Amino acid sequence: MYYRSRSIILRTRDLRESDQLVTVFTEKEGKLTAVAKGVKKPKSSLRGCVQPFCHSQLFFSQGRELDLITQGRLIDFFGNSREDLNRTLYIMYMMELLDKSLMDKAPLPHLYLSLVEVLKLMDQDGFNPLLVRYFESQLLTHLGYRPVLDRCVGCGSRLSDHYTFSLADGGLVCGACPVGSRRIDLRGDCLALLRLLSQGALPAIRRVKVSREAMRQLEYFLELYLEYHVERKFRVKNTIRWLKQAMPVSI
Ligand SMILES: [Zn+2]
Repeated sequence: MYYRSRSIILRTRDLRESDQLVTVFTEKEGKLTAVAKGVKKPKSSLRGCVQPFCHSQLFFSQGRELDLITQGRLIDFFGNSREDLNRTLYIMYMMELLDKSLMDKAPLPHLYLSLVEVLKLMDQDGFNPLLVRYFESQLLTHLGYRPVLDRCVGCGSRLSDHYTFSLADGGLVCGACPVGSRRIDLRGDCLALLRLLSQGALPAIRRVKVSREAMRQLEYFLELYLEYHVERKFRVKNTIRWLKQAMPVSI
């Protein structure tokens, strides 16, 4: 059986001779790993469309164990991002996050579209950390962990000034409800940003001005929340953190 889908290349690994194993996030089928036969041969027509930073239309043939990528056509190549260290690292981080958190062949077409949007904007406009935060928040939403931010997750009441965020419950908790040990006291500006991100209002997100403190807390919060629910450590994120310390420029 044959099928095709638009795909973002998450990672490639050498297999045997001139073949590669390619892990892709496809629009129609979700994440999957397939064999690109002969891709390392100089004349392979697949060469230019199954590399990282490619957005491609791929044609697959179902195999007994692994599917084969039979043909491909490049839709977009995020070349500006590949030339830039910050963007390269953050895109690697997003690809790693998808690779570790998505189940095989479980389609998430809306998440796919959000990812394409983020990759395009980052390539056109340069690095904007809010785009990465937007992607993380979309990932959480589509994995079923959208944080409850408009009412108390315990009793459903409207929130007054006294609230905290419970990681285990996945939402804000009012002053009257019990809260476990894994809690974060969110700043008001960080909460406003989180609400904007979970509404998915990308045009507004691109224009918003954010204080350094709110941005820092937002990054910290999403990292903890992702780790809590996805339960993996993100190797690339650690690389980024290490680079931030090593480099004189601020990311
Ligand atoms: Zn409550």
